[in-house]
Amino acid sequence: MTARKDWDTYFMDIAYMASTRSRCNRRHVGAVLVQGKKLLGTAYNGAPSGVPDCSEAGCMLVEEIELVPAEGKEQVVKKQRCIRTIHAEQNLLLFTDREDREGSVVYVTDQPCWTCANMLANSGISEIVYHRAYPKDHDKVSALMEQKKLTFRQLEKYEPPASTISEVTN
Ligand SMILES: [Zn+2]
Ligand SMILES: [Zn+2]
Repeated sequence: MTARKDWDTYFMDIAYMASTRSRCNRRHVGAVLVQGKKLLGTAYNGAPSGVPDCSEAGCMLVEEIELVPAEGKEQVVKKQRCIRTIHAEQNLLLFTDREDREGSVVYVTDQPCWTCANMLANSGISEIVYHRAYPKDHDKVSALMEQKKLTFRQLEKYEPPASTISEVTN
């Protein structure tokens, strides 16, 4: 018999399961909302329902300029991002009630981007647990979590179920 999963592993596994529903080939993100030990909702990144998704219509790419620290200086790097999808965290907020969210925990496969973090900070939740790092927005998101007194933590030793990981292009 394998060891019983702890709650962090259990809920992060469910977030990874949700991420497999994503049809955006650039990023599969899943998120779940937990109150106490109760699962209140699951979501993934995707186009609005009834609208062609990335697998049908292709990703909707925009080019962005990012400042990346390199050798003590900031370097300008061009990056592409898909904007067709509603992010998993935002879908999670669309599909859950404010009342239920008070004091709840969000488990999300990837560290939230700035916009999602900003929305989560105003959504009633009290904690965000993530697995994969997203260095681009890390500093400003951490500072926001600090200001809002939200618990913000990464599961560093966590291993997602192999069946939930698929190839994505970046
Ligand atoms: Zn896409
Ligand atoms: Zn986001």
